[in-house]
Amino acid sequence: MNPKVSIVWFRNDLRLHDNEAIYEASIASDVIIPVYVFDPRVFMSFTKFGFPKTGKYRAQFIIESIIDLKTSLQSKGSDLIVRIGNPEDELMNLVKDHKASWIFCNRERTQEEVDVQDALEKSMWSFGRELRYSRGKMLYYTADLPFPVTHTPDTFTTFRKEVEKFIPIRKPFEIPDDTYSNLDFIEEKGEIPYLEDFGHEPFTIDKGIAFAGGESEALRQLDYYFDEKKLPSRYKKTRNQLLGRDYSTKFSVWLAQGCLSPKLIYDRLKKYESQYGSNDSTYWIFFELLWRDFFRLMGKKHLNQIFKKEGILHEDPGGKEDQDLFNLWATGKTGIPFIDANMIELNETGFMSNRGRQNVASFLVKDLGINWLMGAEYFESLLIDYDPCSNYGNWNYISGVGNDPRDSRYFNILSQARRYDPKGAFIKYWIPALDRLPDNHVHAPDLMDATISDFNLEKDYVSNVVSSDRWL
Ligand SMILES: Cc1cc2nc3c(=O)[nH]c(=O)nc-3n(C[C@H](O)[C@H](O)[C@H](O)COP(=O)(O)OP(=O)(O)OC[C@H]3O[C@@H](n4cnc5c(N)ncnc54)[C@H](O)[C@@H]3O)c2cc1C
Repeated sequence: MNPKVSIVWFRNDLRLHDNEAIYEASIASDVIIPVYVFDPRVFMSFTKFGFPKTGKYRAQFIIESIIDLKTSLQSKGSDLIVRIGNPEDELMNLVKDHKASWIFCNRERTQEEVDVQDALEKSMWSFGRELRYSRGKMLYYTADLPFPVTHTPDTFTTFRKEVEKFIPIRKPFEIPDDTYSNLDFIEEKGEIPYLEDFGHEPFTIDKGIAFAGGESEALRQLDYYFDEKKLPSRYKKTRNQLLGRDYSTKFSVWLAQGCLSPKLIYDRLKKYESQYGSNDSTYWIFFELLWRDFFRLMGKKHLNQIFKKEGILHEDPGGKEDQDLFNLWATGKTGIPFIDANMIELNETGFMSNRGRQNVASFLVKDLGINWLMGAEYFESLLIDYDPCSNYGNWNYISGVGNDPRDSRYFNILSQARRYDPKGAFIKYWIPALDRLPDNHVHAPDLMDATISDFNLEKDYVSNVVSSDRWL
């Protein structure tokens, strides 16, 4: 009898642990062909406002994740087949060449990803083959929730109260090493592209955190966070800080590409609690992961509405498309140090803290009066941890067209800066020119009695203090 062959198509689930697609493929078939396809529509196109859809930081992170995945599969006697092209075509070629009966993959829920999987599914059907979907992005399984996705509560607190105490989180899948197959019969394994192939220059990160892609790094971060540093016990106290590796988990970059499973984090959290005790802080890590599930459910429930200016509330929030003003924000040249330092961090590393994101987003929308979609697309381009539901969900929320039960939430940037960066260490780190200023003026150099020129700042900073009567 011919062996039964399956393709496992890796998408945003670039890991071997807790991978339902691999688990199900191993039950259905004798031979598993793991495949990743670099889709030029994702790596080489532009957003509506003209930013690269996948900026250099995320592109590099994904390349690293693919190298790591390939190495892990090779160490288990298998390999990763790599293609560049439209997944719906490349995968069909492999199905035909190797007489595969099924493709197993993670089901995506946002439009562009759904279009690809729908096209592939259609081709598979017309060829008498089947695309099988699995899950693995969330902590919860939608089937376990006490409501259908379309009835998910629109406010986070209601959602949380309906699930957190009642719905158990499933255990991660155990996937034995002998699941994988020798792929010597495939001659063309395919080359992993370089960053330059996607039109980006190679870069190095000199300041801030240089995140490395891949499941191995993700598992190292789990060990570092939980065991080496035992950081969960103080997460709630540190999570609003701005500088360094330890103030928050930093899991988001690996979660976004699926190098890390949320269920595995939860499993480790529970083990940590049973070993070192639970407290507000350990709970709060779970609480934040619930936000991630919540935004994904909002994406499933409201579909494309999260990507529209009117958001899930269907209300026009206004907002102009002033390119010059937007550019000052995007390049970190507003003259308002707290905003600029955060944007410089994003531009130089592909990461920004949660506190920073809330402030720069609020400032763009509420103070500068810019269309929030411009900011959301800019984040989409640059963030390593970009995730459609978390990014657009949070922008909806901050722009007043999302799930915020508090109408017109407004961040006073100066008081936020003084509260979360009291000595200005964060802004001095990213804008060294501000070192010259006395601490009490570091957040608002334009408000000093002395003129900016007394401190010789103009050359290096502050030429464009954006006027806004509200930001003070
Ligand atoms: C405007 C804006 C855009 C954002 N865009 C993204 C995005 O594209 N991708 C993304 O993963 N997060 C996004 N966030 C949420 C949050 O800022 C990041 O998840 C967090 O800063 C990542 O750092 P961390 O892993 O150290 O988080 P931690 O503080 O350690 O939190 C643990 C985990 O909980 C989840 N989480 C925490 N806060 C949120 C939140 N507000 N929404 C959803 N999940 C959350 C993340 O998975 C995170 O890894 C955005 C927030 C804002 C305000």
